[in-house]
Amino acid sequence: MITIEEIRRKYLGAPGYSDEDLEVVRTVHEYVDKEIMPRRKDLDGGWHHDEKLAKDTIEKVHQGLVDIGVQRMAYPESVGGLGVAPGLGSMVFEEIARGDCGLATHIGIIGWVMGAIVGAGRWDIAEPLVKKVCDDKPHASCMALTEPAGGANVEDPTQHGRTIRTIAKLDGEEWVISGHKVWPSGAGMSDTAYLTVCTTDPEQGDDGIALILVPPDAEGLSFSKPFEKMGMCWTDINAEIFYDDVRVPKENRLLGPGGDAALLHNIVAGGRSGTCVWATGVAQACFEIVVNYTKDREIAGRPVRSRSLHASIIGEMALRIDCARAYQQKVAEMTRSRQFGRSGEPFLLSKCSAAQNFGCETAIWVAHKAMELMGSYGYSYDYHIEKYLRDAKILQLWLGGPQRRLLDTALGYYTFEW
Ligand SMILES: Cc1cc2nc3c(=O)[nH]c(=O)nc-3n(C[C@H](O)[C@H](O)[C@H](O)COP(=O)(O)OP(=O)(O)OC[C@H]3O[C@@H](n4cnc5c(N)ncnc54)[C@H](O)[C@@H]3O)c2cc1C
Repeated sequence: MITIEEIRRKYLGAPGYSDEDLEVVRTVHEYVDKEIMPRRKDLDGGWHHDEKLAKDTIEKVHQGLVDIGVQRMAYPESVGGLGVAPGLGSMVFEEIARGDCGLATHIGIIGWVMGAIVGAGRWDIAEPLVKKVCDDKPHASCMALTEPAGGANVEDPTQHGRTIRTIAKLDGEEWVISGHKVWPSGAGMSDTAYLTVCTTDPEQGDDGIALILVPPDAEGLSFSKPFEKMGMCWTDINAEIFYDDVRVPKENRLLGPGGDAALLHNIVAGGRSGTCVWATGVAQACFEIVVNYTKDREIAGRPVRSRSLHASIIGEMALRIDCARAYQQKVAEMTRSRQFGRSGEPFLLSKCSAAQNFGCETAIWVAHKAMELMGSYGYSYDYHIEKYLRDAKILQLWLGGPQRRLLDTALGYYTFEW
């Protein structure tokens, strides 16, 4: 059983958080150890990709996380939430990602979508949705940005929305949306909302960008079969979304010309910073596996982890994990302070983009090195490193890819057009 003191050490002192706050993190840590760690293979569907086993397991552990308050922890008590301290979610979601980052994604998207609506000041739209996710059932949401012609372009601030091909036209009191999204997590699964990035007119640049909330039962909304992919096989469902003259009330556009473009960049920044949290959870899991395995495995009569070559690699893993965690904590703290502008403005977008890149490189490097230190056992299905490596790669690819994020990091220091 982990103590509050150990949680504090792991999260670099967790400055500003009381023992009571950290009790929430400790509870989730214990749940992950007890209920998720033993089911990691089942969540993935097993070596033979057993869809039913995977879906049943996801339902069970998602319900378990709902029961301990994860889904509603961030919202005010007045609407049924737990009102936990701001920023505590990073530690909670790192713990879930330590068990399975696909599951963290499936649940985390809800907060991403709700956070965007609340952040836009649209409590009129947010309230019924937030009340729904604060009930005692598992839910899902969807953030629809990526299009067949490219994901990075939609997120690219220097494209000013000119490459977006999902069009929203105002017809009286309704928006009529036609277009095609591809890959969004929760496509076909969301029972709350599809927050859809559209344009009213690509020629209008940033003023054309429109963020419109589409209800899951909207007429004209349909989905392809889920994609088959390398990792997060069943925990995170991805598919195409077709908008065939989907009509929604005019009020469902979150802000309006200019405001929606700013919000889009905030959403991207938040997703990137959050992905660093997921990646740190993955790296931490691989670190724990390799430290444990190399305790008993011997090379010429001595434990692998006592050999200086191997101990130095384990030491470097610890350093990189702490750096990823500390950097993300710092960026999140700067974002919450509001002292440095909006998260989607170049200064903080630069930091959030760097956090995702550094966190993902750390996760992939740690998983690789863990595999090397464990030899064939690291490569085997039984020790889970291969699963973390498969899952970690998409953390690096989504939200624009590492190349787009390097450009966004540079854009924090000087201006240029792509
Ligand atoms: C498991 C999973 C979950 C996902 N979840 C979501 C989701 O919830 N919502 C959603 O909308 N999408 C989601 N995606 C899609 C994902 O975010 C995109 O695939 C990603 O942003 C990259 O877009 P792309 O695949 O179209 O690649 P492209 O945009 O074609 O990019 C390919 C490469 O070119 C680089 N590149 C492209 N354009 C530029 C540019 N302008 N500047 C610099 N470099 C550039 C990229 O960095 C990348 O290296 C998900 C994908 C997967 C696999």
